[in-house]
Amino acid sequence: MGADPFCSREKIEHQIIYESRHFYALYDIRPVVPGHCLILPKRHILDMLEFSDEETADFQAIAKKVIPVLIEQYSKEEKSYDFTSQIGPYSGRTVNHLHFHVLPRSKKDEYQKRNVHIYLDIENNRSSLLLNIREEVGRLRKALGYSPAQK
Ligand SMILES: [Zn+2]
Repeated sequence: MGADPFCSREKIEHQIIYESRHFYALYDIRPVVPGHCLILPKRHILDMLEFSDEETADFQAIAKKVIPVLIEQYSKEEKSYDFTSQIGPYSGRTVNHLHFHVLPRSKKDEYQKRNVHIYLDIENNRSSLLLNIREEVGRLRKALGYSPAQK
Protein backbone atom coordinates (compact mmCIF):
# COMPACT_ATOMS: atom_id res chain seq x y z
CA MET A 1 0.00 0.00 0.00
CA GLY A 2 1.41 3.38 -0.97
CA ALA A 3 2.11 6.24 1.38
CA ASP A 4 -0.67 8.73 2.09
CA PRO A 5 0.17 12.22 0.82
CA PHE A 6 -3.44 13.42 1.08
CA CYS A 7 -3.30 14.26 4.78
CA SER A 8 -0.47 16.71 4.17
CA ARG A 9 -1.69 19.96 2.66
CA GLU A 10 1.83 21.11 1.83
CA LYS A 11 2.49 17.96 -0.21
CA ILE A 12 -0.57 18.51 -2.38
CA GLU A 13 -0.77 22.31 -2.40
CA HIS A 14 0.58 22.57 -5.96
CA GLN A 15 -2.09 20.16 -7.22
CA ILE A 16 -5.14 21.84 -5.68
CA ILE A 17 -7.51 23.19 -8.32
CA TYR A 18 -10.42 23.79 -5.97
CA GLU A 19 -11.41 23.18 -2.38
CA SER A 20 -14.55 23.30 -0.31
CA ARG A 21 -14.96 23.06 3.42
CA HIS A 22 -14.49 19.29 3.52
CA PHE A 23 -12.96 18.34 0.13
CA TYR A 24 -10.12 19.00 -2.26
CA ALA A 25 -10.08 18.71 -6.01
CA LEU A 26 -6.53 17.91 -7.16
CA TYR A 27 -4.83 17.48 -10.50
CA ASP A 28 -3.45 13.92 -10.52
CA ILE A 29 0.36 13.89 -10.49
CA ARG A 30 0.37 10.96 -12.91
CA PRO A 31 -2.49 11.77 -15.25
CA VAL A 32 -3.55 8.98 -17.59
CA VAL A 33 -5.75 11.32 -19.65
CA PRO A 34 -5.73 15.13 -19.96
CA GLY A 35 -7.68 16.66 -17.08
CA HIS A 36 -7.33 13.61 -14.81
CA CYS A 37 -8.29 14.97 -11.39
CA LEU A 38 -9.14 13.63 -7.95
CA ILE A 39 -11.85 14.59 -5.49
CA LEU A 40 -11.10 13.61 -1.92
CA PRO A 41 -12.12 14.40 1.64
CA LYS A 42 -9.77 16.49 3.77
CA ARG A 43 -10.56 14.17 6.64
CA HIS A 44 -8.62 10.91 6.68
CA ILE A 45 -11.18 8.25 5.90
CA LEU A 46 -11.09 5.16 3.70
CA ASP A 47 -14.71 4.70 2.73
CA MET A 48 -17.42 7.04 1.46
CA LEU A 49 -19.83 5.24 3.77
CA GLU A 50 -18.12 7.17 6.58
CA PHE A 51 -19.27 10.54 5.19
CA SER A 52 -21.34 12.60 7.59
CA ASP A 53 -24.52 14.14 6.16
CA GLU A 54 -22.69 17.46 5.85
CA GLU A 55 -19.79 15.80 3.99
CA THR A 56 -22.23 14.00 1.69
CA ALA A 57 -23.82 17.33 0.73
CA ASP A 58 -20.41 18.99 0.31
CA PHE A 59 -19.18 16.07 -1.82
CA GLN A 60 -22.11 16.46 -4.17
CA ALA A 61 -21.54 20.21 -4.30
CA ILE A 62 -17.83 20.02 -5.16
CA ALA A 63 -18.48 17.32 -7.78
CA LYS A 64 -21.13 19.52 -9.40
CA LYS A 65 -18.75 22.49 -9.34
CA VAL A 66 -15.61 20.79 -10.65
CA ILE A 67 -16.83 18.12 -13.10
CA PRO A 68 -18.63 20.52 -15.49
CA VAL A 69 -15.43 22.58 -15.74
CA LEU A 70 -13.39 19.45 -16.53
CA ILE A 71 -15.93 18.49 -19.19
CA GLU A 72 -15.83 22.00 -20.65
CA GLN A 73 -12.02 21.98 -20.73
CA TYR A 74 -11.26 18.39 -21.78
CA SER A 75 -14.39 16.72 -23.13
CA LYS A 76 -16.37 19.58 -24.57
CA GLU A 77 -17.76 17.68 -27.51
CA GLU A 78 -17.96 14.19 -26.02
CA LYS A 79 -19.32 15.18 -22.59
CA SER A 80 -17.90 11.96 -21.18
CA TYR A 81 -16.05 11.07 -18.03
CA ASP A 82 -15.26 8.17 -15.75
CA PHE A 83 -15.86 8.66 -12.05
CA THR A 84 -14.28 5.91 -10.04
CA SER A 85 -12.90 4.96 -6.67
CA GLN A 86 -11.26 1.86 -5.26
CA ILE A 87 -12.62 1.24 -1.78
CA GLY A 88 -11.48 -1.55 0.50
CA PRO A 89 -8.30 -3.66 0.67
CA TYR A 90 -9.29 -5.93 -2.23
CA SER A 91 -10.36 -3.18 -4.62
CA GLY A 92 -6.98 -2.31 -6.13
CA ARG A 93 -6.65 0.73 -3.90
CA THR A 94 -3.15 2.21 -4.00
CA VAL A 95 -3.36 5.24 -1.70
CA ASN A 96 -4.78 4.68 1.77
CA HIS A 97 -7.03 7.75 1.81
CA LEU A 98 -10.38 7.84 0.08
CA HIS A 99 -10.23 9.51 -3.34
CA PHE A 100 -12.33 9.60 -6.49
CA HIS A 101 -10.78 9.78 -9.94
CA VAL A 102 -12.42 12.04 -12.52
CA LEU A 103 -11.26 11.07 -15.99
CA PRO A 104 -12.51 13.31 -18.78
CA ARG A 105 -12.87 11.06 -21.84
CA SER A 106 -12.34 12.02 -25.42
CA LYS A 107 -12.94 10.11 -28.62
CA LYS A 108 -9.24 10.61 -29.32
CA ASP A 109 -7.99 9.29 -26.00
CA GLU A 110 -5.75 6.25 -26.13
CA TYR A 111 -8.12 4.18 -24.00
CA GLN A 112 -10.98 4.10 -26.49
CA LYS A 113 -9.76 0.78 -27.91
CA ARG A 114 -8.62 -0.73 -24.60
CA ASN A 115 -10.91 0.79 -22.04
CA VAL A 116 -10.10 -1.58 -19.19
CA HIS A 117 -6.43 -0.52 -19.27
CA ILE A 118 -7.31 2.89 -17.93
CA TYR A 119 -7.87 1.27 -14.52
CA LEU A 120 -4.67 -0.79 -14.72
CA ASP A 121 -2.70 2.33 -15.53
CA ILE A 122 -4.24 4.16 -12.57
CA GLU A 123 -3.54 1.23 -10.27
CA ASN A 124 0.07 1.01 -11.43
CA ASN A 125 0.60 4.78 -11.30
CA ARG A 126 1.50 4.61 -14.97
CA SER A 127 0.95 7.95 -16.60
CA SER A 128 0.31 8.02 -20.32
CA LEU A 129 1.02 11.75 -20.41
CA LEU A 130 3.95 14.01 -19.96
CA LEU A 131 2.03 17.04 -19.04
CA ASN A 132 2.86 20.41 -17.60
CA ILE A 133 0.83 20.00 -14.42
CA ARG A 134 1.59 23.50 -13.17
CA GLU A 135 0.14 24.93 -16.35
CA GLU A 136 -2.97 22.74 -16.18
CA VAL A 137 -3.50 23.54 -12.50
CA GLY A 138 -3.20 27.26 -13.25
CA ARG A 139 -5.72 26.98 -16.08
CA LEU A 140 -8.22 25.04 -13.98
CA ARG A 141 -7.85 27.33 -10.95
CA LYS A 142 -8.71 30.23 -13.23
CA ALA A 143 -11.69 28.41 -14.75
CA LEU A 144 -12.93 27.54 -11.25
CA GLY A 145 -12.26 30.99 -9.81
CA TYR A 146 -10.02 29.47 -7.15
CA SER A 147 -6.95 31.02 -5.62
CA PRO A 148 -5.07 29.16 -2.86
CA ALA A 149 -4.82 32.31 -0.74
CA GLN A 150 -8.57 32.62 -0.37
CA LYS A 151 -8.80 29.93 2.30
ZN1 LIG B 1 -4.97 10.55 4.86
